[in-house]
Amino acid sequence: MPPEEQSEQLRRLPAVDRLLRRPALASLLQSCPRQVVTGAARAVLGELRRELASGRRQEAPPLATIEAMVEGRVRQLVQPGLRRVINATGIVLHTNLGRAVLGSAAHEALALAAAGYTNLELDLATGERGSRQEHVARLLTWLTGAEAALVVNNNAAAVLLALHTLARGREVVVSRGQLVEIGGSFRIPEIMAASGARLVEVGTTNKTYLRDYEQAVSAETALLLRVHPSNFRLVGFTHEVGTAELVALGRRLGLPVMEDLGSGLLFDLGVPALAAEPVVCSSLAAGADIVTFSGDKLLGGPQAGIILGRERFLAPMRRNPLARALRPDKLSLAALEGTLRVYLDPEAAKRELPVLAALLLPPEELEARARRLCALVSRAAHGRAAVRVRAGHSEAGGGALPGVTLPTFLVEIRPQGLSVETLAARLRRSEPPLIARRLKGALALDVRTLLEGEEALVARILAACLEER
Ligand SMILES: *Cc1c(COP(=O)(O)O)cnc(C)c1O
Repeated sequence: MPPEEQSEQLRRLPAVDRLLRRPALASLLQSCPRQVVTGAARAVLGELRRELASGRRQEAPPLATIEAMVEGRVRQLVQPGLRRVINATGIVLHTNLGRAVLGSAAHEALALAAAGYTNLELDLATGERGSRQEHVARLLTWLTGAEAALVVNNNAAAVLLALHTLARGREVVVSRGQLVEIGGSFRIPEIMAASGARLVEVGTTNKTYLRDYEQAVSAETALLLRVHPSNFRLVGFTHEVGTAELVALGRRLGLPVMEDLGSGLLFDLGVPALAAEPVVCSSLAAGADIVTFSGDKLLGGPQAGIILGRERFLAPMRRNPLARALRPDKLSLAALEGTLRVYLDPEAAKRELPVLAALLLPPEELEARARRLCALVSRAAHGRAAVRVRAGHSEAGGGALPGVTLPTFLVEIRPQGLSVETLAARLRRSEPPLIARRLKGALALDVRTLLEGEEALVARILAACLEER
């Protein structure tokens, strides 16, 4: 571009004052801090100036476009980024949608801890410094029979802390079939490398026998590790060594056995689809010395990593400086304590913890809810979509519970004169955003994950998105 043309384009960029008099920005100034609007205007103009000067942009955009750019920038700042969404996917533990929905006991505990001072680290009996771990450790040991408990930020941190404390610079023996990748971000081999422990893989991807572990043990071995392969399932011609068998070997060789259970099902819920999920109490009863799991998967609480087991192994973890870096905050601890207290009555836990309640919804109830929602949505659609109830399956948890599917009822929506992609995108941009499931040529709403009172809201959102032309 000739230099005179370039300076002409630069001159066309408006002054900040002129931009702020445009109607959309003038109206934003009524509700947003002035510094934010002027700051956004300066930032957008600065970027345009640099793009024009460097030749990456040939022409100054029209004033209305610049106005919209500034308005967009302001909205990004002043609107909450983390928002409530409606989960109509049927995936109870959806990592992208924040995994477990907390129960009311956890909400109450959270609100208390957030709004005021607490005895987080004060022993009220003695007036001395107390432990933030005490509040949840009491409940965890009572509920599971474990000798000791320690809570960190998430299960990845729990595995890291355990391996760093017990096996740094030494070897950990793991079955090759259990070297899992979870949600694309948790890989046992990488966590192990970060902990300084050396991985010794035994067996093949589908078969590992006790003798494989035995042959791999050397003077360098610190730990025998079992990992529950939560996000994929080996089917068919397989063999794995059970916890009790591995514990027997560990005892004979004088080596601790650790289990990373992942999902943290505290007790057997009697859901056939969860029959293959490991149960925390059973792993401890089988003799595992250290057990780790997440707080926000099947336990139904906040993000946390829970370590249970023998005090002899947990005490050095507490003293590890990493424990300070990985310690949970008061809000997580409050929500976890609130959740755990519900488990004191297992029947109450099944009713009151949203994760368990959603997994345990009986088919008749799901069908009745789907029929109610179908009637509301049909009416709202005004003939702009074909709406019907059909049977289907819910995935219990995207990456968290692979292969666990539960029968459910779906409200299927086939938009007329509108593509499924367009409708799905409009639903995502609604307020609140509605996340539906995609089928071939249709969208589906799985009632399993709709929360109380959301049905009418779903119908209203659909009406607006189908109407928009
Ligand atoms: C989910 C999972 C993890 C990671 O837990 P986060 O709480 O997400 O850090 C680790 N191990 C297993 C087996 C898991 O299923």
